[in-house]
Amino acid sequence: MINIYSMTLKKLEDYFLSINEKKYKARQVYDWLYIKRVNTFDNMSNIKKDILEKLKTDYYFEKIEIIKCENDELVKKYLLKLSDDRTIEAVLMEHDYGNSLCISSEVGCNMNCSFCESGKIKKQRDVTSGEMVLEIMKIEEDIKSRISHVVIMGIGEPFDNYDNIVDFIEIVNNPFGINLGSRHITVSTCGIVPKIYEFSEFPYQVNLAISLHASNNELRSKLMPINKVYNIEKLMESIKYYLSRTNRRVTFEYIMLDKVNDKESNAMELANLLHGMNCYVNLIPYNETSRIPYKRSSKENILKFYDILKRYGINVTIRREFGGKISAACGQLKSSEEKV
Ligand code: SAH
Repeated sequence: MINIYSMTLKKLEDYFLSINEKKYKARQVYDWLYIKRVNTFDNMSNIKKDILEKLKTDYYFEKIEIIKCENDELVKKYLLKLSDDRTIEAVLMEHDYGNSLCISSEVGCNMNCSFCESGKIKKQRDVTSGEMVLEIMKIEEDIKSRISHVVIMGIGEPFDNYDNIVDFIEIVNNPFGINLGSRHITVSTCGIVPKIYEFSEFPYQVNLAISLHASNNELRSKLMPINKVYNIEKLMESIKYYLSRTNRRVTFEYIMLDKVNDKESNAMELANLLHGMNCYVNLIPYNETSRIPYKRSSKENILKFYDILKRYGINVTIRREFGGKISAACGQLKSSEEKV
């Protein structure tokens, strides 16, 4: 049995063809799932009984539950329970341009970045495409409003779960599905280089963000073990390829860690590395946690870093500091719940 929310429209059309039915029935099912939002086959009143019976033998409705929700002014952090009782997180941010949801792509994470809570809980399994779809639908149901932007930046490494990510994007981007514009979808990776090449050929105009956090190999390898496999040179080469194929601006995320990567020399090195690239840098004030000893850079150092990048002609923004009070950084709610 397959979770019906994991089906792209194309796969569902192929299914109907395979049972000698017209493929437009897939669109009817999509309409029930994503427009009318029913959660049983019996509600699909314009589909014949015998087809519904057949659907019931091949598909089921996966469920996820909200088990905890913490609220800050503009941020809501959800702990969600999957049907096997495993938990993931989703973070909702209300912006002036709409509701943005940060979703998890894996249960746990194997990337083991030294500053990140998610990496403290080893990967247990992938989050399936259908479960990612349900992360959006569950939160929309809770807030009784539409999500306009999705960032795959919660727990997990999306490029370590590539096939599910690709299907997920197809499902949520589909005009007959959740109908979220591809430019409103962002995938964030720690830098799994072969997947960046693969993603360069992906026919949807989604945004790519790279968690960089350091501009030399020595420091980056300390912060992010993935750098020992794909170092900065290999990473940059893959991003240049991505840019040449897609012409889409890349975002570099850079967490500001006090006395670790926030010196003026780090800023100059970063400016050098990114010089001439179609990109912008998002400086992220670190969300401190009691379990990891890194400290957030001072405001003064963040501003100094920002100024240097600006002076060298790099597009740069500082992430609005929200979610700090409610542990909204990646993995923090789950691990506080699991007492890691
Ligand atoms: N694995 C993917 C997506 C998950 S991490 C990636 O690496 O991009 C999403 C972002 O949150 C990353 O940029 C990560 O470095 C950042 N992050 C993790 N812990 C954080 C913390 N405590 N404070 C601020 N940002 C954090």
